[in-house]
Amino acid sequence: MISEDIQEFGDLINRAQRILLISHIRPDGDAVGSLLGLGLMLEELGKEVNLVLEDGVPLVFHHLTGADKVYQEPAGVYDLIVVVDSSDIDRIGSVLDEHGEPDVNIDHHPTNTQFAKLNLVRESAVATVEIIYDLALALSLPINLPIAEALLTGLLTDSLGFRTSNSTARTLRIAAELMDRGANLQVLYRKAMLEKSLAAVRYWGQGLSRIQSEDGLIWTSLTLKDREIADYSGRDDADLVNILSRIKDTAVCVVFVEQTDGKVKVSWRSRPGYDVAEIATQFGGGGHKPAAGAEIKGDLKRVQEEVIEATRKILT
Ligand code: AMP
Ligand code: MN
Ligand code: MN
Repeated sequence: MISEDIQEFGDLINRAQRILLISHIRPDGDAVGSLLGLGLMLEELGKEVNLVLEDGVPLVFHHLTGADKVYQEPAGVYDLIVVVDSSDIDRIGSVLDEHGEPDVNIDHHPTNTQFAKLNLVRESAVATVEIIYDLALALSLPINLPIAEALLTGLLTDSLGFRTSNSTARTLRIAAELMDRGANLQVLYRKAMLEKSLAAVRYWGQGLSRIQSEDGLIWTSLTLKDREIADYSGRDDADLVNILSRIKDTAVCVVFVEQTDGKVKVSWRSRPGYDVAEIATQFGGGGHKPAAGAEIKGDLKRVQEEVIEATRKILT
């Protein structure tokens, strides 16, 4: 039995010819994997598909098939607009401004605002690619090798290599299915997660050199100057937050990344029992209980003080 919303999604793609797929700014492996995975499936069905990421595809995902067909803005008129892995509409940046409203929202964030006409939101999914995999099975969409590689990348990156507490036996079964279709787990893991540029590691060094710790709370910041010194080209934290989360006896860790637009990107990670999505939501962001983020207006010092103050509250 196919659920009603999945059937409706199937009807929508059957009726559409020109389809626009979009995911979030500062895209991660699940954003890219969901976009490419679903995009390639729809292309296999003979649809004209446009893939859009306002920030483009990060270098670490350039090996995935279709990465070179992702644009930073839409072009033209579409029959169907699908947003993947984005908890609210602001997460996609300003790419949709004159191109219409999202028809479908496929996501796994508990903080999802149900912003589209059809909302396929499954909080239990470890990654949005898991929902796309389920859609493919239910609607008999093709999963060839490039699609399997895109989906496995999203599964690996959002589960941190099957380490997050929401990773289940089913997560591993899906990974195994994708490996059966030829996806190479070790290569995908190394390319998307393990390998770092020397610049990224130098950038970590800047952040690690001024780490602060207080009763189970660990935090640090990365300034624009740090980015320049390290010669790091990204606007993100190069995944430093997941390094901090490995420090023993850490309940919550936070990384502040100074941006050029007068905002600060904040990333939280927590041990089970501490809900950081709730704090991120207070600051206009969102995410999952153990991993959340927000972009906050203001200078680094003030944002850091306010966020640490709010984060302390959930630790006491
Ligand atoms: P990050 O710290 O950017 O790796 O994000 C951790 C989690 O929070 C991911 O699931 C993101 O999708 C989500 N997230 C990050 N930034 C935001 C934001 N500004 N608004 C809503 N959700 C966010
Ligand atoms: Mn994501
Ligand atoms: Mn995700």
